Amino acid sequence: MIHPVLASFLQNTSFLDVLYIVAFALFIQGLRGLSGPTTAVRGNRIAAVGMGIAVVATLLNRGEGNWGLIALGSALGTAVGVPAARQVRMTAMPQMVALFNGVGGGAVFLISWTEFRLTHGYSHTATYIAIFSLFAAIVGSVSFWGSNIAFGKLQEILPGRPITLGAAQQAVNLLLLALAIAAAVDIAAGDHSEGVFIGMLVCAALLGNAVVLPIGGADMPVVISMLNACTGLSAAATGIALNNPALIVAGMIVGASGSILTNLMAVAMNRSIPAIVAGGFGGGGVVEGATGAGEHAGTVRSTSAADAAIQLAYASRVVIVPGYGMAVAQAQHAVRELTKELEARGVEVSYAIHPVAGRMPGHMNVLLAEADVPYDQLREMDDANPEFQRTDVSLVIGANDVTNPAAKNTPSSPIYGMPILEVADSRSVIVIKRSMNPGFAGIENELYYDPKTAMLFGDAKSAVSEITAELAHI
Ligand code: NDP
Repeated sequence: MIHPVLASFLQNTSFLDVLYIVAFALFIQGLRGLSGPTTAVRGNRIAAVGMGIAVVATLLNRGEGNWGLIALGSALGTAVGVPAARQVRMTAMPQMVALFNGVGGGAVFLISWTEFRLTHGYSHTATYIAIFSLFAAIVGSVSFWGSNIAFGKLQEILPGRPITLGAAQQAVNLLLLALAIAAAVDIAAGDHSEGVFIGMLVCAALLGNAVVLPIGGADMPVVISMLNACTGLSAAATGIALNNPALIVAGMIVGASGSILTNLMAVAMNRSIPAIVAGGFGGGGVVEGATGAGEHAGTVRSTSAADAAIQLAYASRVVIVPGYGMAVAQAQHAVRELTKELEARGVEVSYAIHPVAGRMPGHMNVLLAEADVPYDQLREMDDANPEFQRTDVSLVIGANDVTNPAAKNTPSSPIYGMPILEVADSRSVIVIKRSMNPGFAGIENELYYDPKTAMLFGDAKSAVSEITAELAHI
C-alpha cells in the first residue's frame, strides 16, 4: 500500500506536468536521433522511454479508469505488438507501419465515441471541446480505414492498381466529406442523437476507403505519410478534447513530421497533395502493354554473370541503382562486396538512390548503411541524374518503377510525371531481376527493351555474388 503522502505527491498535477515535460523532451530528442541511420536506434529507444513516462503519468492521474481493462488492453497490445514487431521482415515494414498507424486512428475515433456517450452527446461540454472531439472522430476514422486499405495494397491482398469510381470519384469523395461535416455541425449545435454520430463515423469510414482505393501502387508512399499525419492531427485534437498535454504534444509531433514527410514525398513524386485527397490521380489508366511480359514489340537482351563482370571490370565509372528487389533478396552485403572488388580495380562506384525506391521512405539508405556503404558514395536522385551521362555502366539491382522511362515518355502511364533515375542516359545498363514481371506499379518497363540494356535474370543476391566471383577470374 502506498503511503498517503507519497500518493498525494505522485498524483499532484504539477508533478504530473513535470513528468509530461520530461516525456516531451525525450520525444523531441528521440526524433532528432531518427534523422540519421547511425543514431536512429538510440533515438527510437529514447522516444520509447518518453512514451513510457507519459503512460505512467497518465495512469497516475487521480480516478484514472478501470484498472482491470487497462491491464487487459496492455497485455493484449503487448502480446500482439511485440512478436509482430520482432518477426516482421524488413520488406514488410511499410505494411506494418500502415497497420500501426491505422490502429492509432481507430483508437482516436473510439475515444471520441466514448466521450460522446459519457457526456451525453457533449451536453454541458464547452463547444470547442466538442468540435475538437468531432474533428478527431472524423479524421481518426478516415485514417483507420484508409490505412487498412493501404495495408491491403502493400500486402497484396488488394490489387495495387487504382480502383476507382471513374468520373464520379471526386463528387463521391466531396459528398462523403460534406455529409460527415454536416453531421458534426449538427452534433456540435446540440443534437445528442447517437445515430447521427454513427452516421458521421460511417461517412468518414467510406471516405477513408474512397480516398485510398483509387491510389495507384507507385503513389502509395505519399498516401501512407499523409495518413500518418492525419493520425497525428486527430490524436492532438483528442488531446485538446481530453485536456491531456501528452496527447497534444505527441500528436502534433506526429502530425508535423508526417506533414513534412508527405510534402517531401509529394515533391519527389511530382504529385499535388490536394489532387491525392480528391482522388484526382492514380486513376489515369494503365500504360499500353502494362500487363507484363510478352506484349512489348521490342526484344530483350539477356546477359550472364561472366559477361556482366567483364563489362563492370573494364568500366571506369559504375552507378548502382538499388530497388525493392535488393531489399527482398537481402543483397546489400553482397552488393557491398562487389563494390569493394570493383574499387580495388580502380573503378569509381556510387549508388543512386530514388526517394521512393523500396517500400518505405529511406529504405535503401537503411539497408546500405547496414552493409557499411560509405555515405559519400550515396547520391540523391537530383545529384545522381546529371552524372549518368558520364557513367559507363548503370547496374540496376531489383529496381523497376524508379527507372521506368514511361514516367517521362508516356502520358497515359499511371506513373507519368514521377521523376525517375535516368539510367538510360548511361553508356550501358545491366538490370538484375528474376523475370520480366512488373514492379509495384504493375506496369511494363521500356528500359528493358532499350538496345543498350542487358538483363541478368536471377535473384539479386545470387546474381551479385556470381558477378563478384567471376571478377576474380578477370
Ligand atoms: P519495384 O517494386 O518497382 O520493382 C522491384 C523489382 O524487383 C520487381 O520488378 C521484381 O522483378 C524485382 N525483384 C523482386 N524480388 C527480387 C529478387 N529476389 N531478386 C531480384 N529482383 C527481385 O521497385 P522500385 O524500388 O523500383 O520502386 C518502388 C515502388 O514501390 C514504386 O512504385 C514506389 O512508388 C512504391 N512504393 C514505395 C514506397 C516507399 O516509401 N519507398 C512505399 C510504397 C510503395 P522480378 O519479380 O522479375 O524479380
